[in-house]
Amino acid sequence: MTNKISPESILDAIKSCVPNDRDFIGLHEPHFSGNEWAYVKECLDTGWVSSVGKFVDQFEEKLAEFTGVKRAVAVVNGTAALHVCLKLVGVEANDEVLLPTFTFIATANAIAYCGAIPHFVDSEEKTLGLDPLKLDLYLKDIAEIRPEGCFNKYTRRRIKAVVPMHTFGHPVDLDPLVELCLRYHLELVEDAAESLGSYYKGRHTGNWGRVSAVSFNGNKIVTTGGGGAVLTNDHSLAKWAKHITTTAKVPHKWEFYHDQIGYNYRLPNLNAALGCAQFEQLPLFLQKKRALAKRYQEVFKTIEGIRCFEEPEFALSNYWLNVLLLNEEQAEMRDALLELTNNQGIMTRPAWTLMHKLPMYKECPRMDVSKAESIEKRLINIPSSVF
Ligand SMILES: *Cc1c(COP(=O)(O)O)cnc(C)c1O
Repeated sequence: MTNKISPESILDAIKSCVPNDRDFIGLHEPHFSGNEWAYVKECLDTGWVSSVGKFVDQFEEKLAEFTGVKRAVAVVNGTAALHVCLKLVGVEANDEVLLPTFTFIATANAIAYCGAIPHFVDSEEKTLGLDPLKLDLYLKDIAEIRPEGCFNKYTRRRIKAVVPMHTFGHPVDLDPLVELCLRYHLELVEDAAESLGSYYKGRHTGNWGRVSAVSFNGNKIVTTGGGGAVLTNDHSLAKWAKHITTTAKVPHKWEFYHDQIGYNYRLPNLNAALGCAQFEQLPLFLQKKRALAKRYQEVFKTIEGIRCFEEPEFALSNYWLNVLLLNEEQAEMRDALLELTNNQGIMTRPAWTLMHKLPMYKECPRMDVSKAESIEKRLINIPSSVF
């Protein structure tokens, strides 16, 4: 059976998949049903709320174990994690860094914090992430490999790194990207902010780049209130990450000596306590989110002209945020759909405004980004909390 597409039929389809006993269904609400109160209370009772305490170490260990990386370094948020990642791989002022134009603002901002220049890449519909084949063709045209690295023939700047992002938790196509990075001498830094619990060909996202960033903001799959982490398999980079995120202070019984410009990016123990409790529930969250995604996928198969995003064969996604994609011909229905659902207490959101359209990034270099522009017009995120 197929139903005719309309904002009303789409609203009904969403409603049939989410609880019907509430006035308001958010896009992604945090879920605290484990040891959150106990662990946070322990912090308060012992006075270890800030930059020292056992929960930070525990949180880092759990994170490394879960993602399969050798080391995780907890920081204040995902944006700070990205900033540190870029520093660690040697991104410097006036370098160019490749990233999808279809991403959250933090990816571009972290590059700008380094004094580097975001260089925007198109996305593909199969993953909603950076299109590695299109990037390869583009680099064939613009890149020149020299002993000192990869250079942009047209701007003469060094191209230092690529930052793919796993959009709404869905893994980007990593194999061709890893290969491309080797060929062009580019550092691979994953923005895995949204993809905790997502795997590409059996290996966790964030375990492919030399360094990767995750986020534990309030709307992510597990939260520390605000928080993030740097993931890496390189012990010396992890050590350096710890050092520069803790003001680059050289350990000493009483001296305050800092050997470089560091950052106060360390995750407070209080936030880590929340994170430890959240982490215990991650397997349950993942299970529930897959079940919700399945329900959406089934019901949207009955409506023509729209589809619910499904993971490609190489991916196991955390389904952090479920995605509806209207067909090209239905794209103009998007705003009416946003209007109706939000008025009815079902929170939905459009795609982020593409980075190259924002005032501070509109002059940055970019390739043809027509696919990202098409996706931007047709995409809607629908409620994806743990129900
Ligand atoms: C959430 C997010 C970040 C940054 O995380 P914060 O913890 O909010 O700083 C970075 N990139 C993407 C794609 C995100 O979704």
